[in-house]
Amino acid sequence: MRPFQYLAPIPSFDYVAPRTLAELFEAFNGHGKGFAIIAGGTDLMVALKERAVAPEAVVDLCRLRGELGGIDVSKGVLRVGALATFSQIESDPLVRRYANALRQAAANVGTLQIRSIATLGGNLATASPAADSAPPLIALGASVTLLGRSGQRTLPVQSFFTGPKKNALLRGEIVSSVEIPAGEGVSSVWTRAAVRNENVLSTVSVAIAASIHDGRFGSSRVALGAVAPTPILAENSSRAMTGSEATAGQAERVAALAAEEARPISDIRASAHYRKHLVFVLTRRLILQMVSEAGIP
Ligand SMILES: Cc1cc2nc3c(=O)[nH]c(=O)nc-3n(C[C@H](O)[C@H](O)[C@H](O)COP(=O)(O)OP(=O)(O)OC[C@H]3O[C@@H](n4cnc5c(N)ncnc54)[C@H](O)[C@@H]3O)c2cc1C
Repeated sequence: MRPFQYLAPIPSFDYVAPRTLAELFEAFNGHGKGFAIIAGGTDLMVALKERAVAPEAVVDLCRLRGELGGIDVSKGVLRVGALATFSQIESDPLVRRYANALRQAAANVGTLQIRSIATLGGNLATASPAADSAPPLIALGASVTLLGRSGQRTLPVQSFFTGPKKNALLRGEIVSSVEIPAGEGVSSVWTRAAVRNENVLSTVSVAIAASIHDGRFGSSRVALGAVAPTPILAENSSRAMTGSEATAGQAERVAALAAEEARPISDIRASAHYRKHLVFVLTRRLILQMVSEAGIP
């Protein structure tokens, strides 16, 4: 990007804010390939300023909160609408009860101003390897529902990410919601390392969901962010944790496997070597926290 380009006006585009899903798909149709979707705009406005995208039209989802917003539980599934903002997620009692790791991640996104408008759907659709909502959703075994003119389909969240800034959305599809199993007795935790406390992308993030009974872990999932081309489920460490004794020694073993599974790059935030070390430290810390919260000495 050229110096001062941020000061130059963004090239003009049509603006459409459909009131129904039918109007939304009509708007997509009417603009061929030349449209961009906007929700909170916290990623899209940056992309427009950087000229990374130059759409003919911007289609705003803001009038579709009835269809694409909201947070509710039904039949053992917590549904979070694509237009739910991180502020809503952070303060929602159902999220606190069934998806604590997602609540923790939401509470750490950007700043208060960013959290007030940035949406879950936008965070997933941007498909950054460092997207903070992704590891909690993957650890919790969530799926994402994609909606197009001809119907909807559902994918596990980890399959939605196909590469850095690439996702499984087809042209004319939107993220409509995320579904999280709302199981009693499953606890989930999230943490990250970053170069400062606020308003910063994660250098590494880790989320774990597991139950603990009689001193052993039940079905467990460890997910990692910012250490691979996409957020990942750390399969070997999840397998090693499942059914094992909830002890400090086991925390070390699971964390070491998670570090092995990480495939980080070196960049402005950290070297690959340091990121692997952070995966070990953060994973071990989260497991020890879960063990301590379960009252195991
Ligand atoms: C100062 C700042 C701090 C930030 N801090 C963090 C952070 O700590 N952690 C983090 O993870 N991110 C962070 N971000 C990135 C950004 O805020 C999030 O990714 C946010 O969730 C994007 O949501 P949005 O609603 O603003 O998306 P938008 O900018 O509206 O859209 C983002 C992309 O997704 C597409 N899109 C949006 N909604 C949908 C949908 N429902 N279906 C299909 N496509 C859709 C858009 O076309 C666009 O390509 C930060 C950004 C800024 C500017």
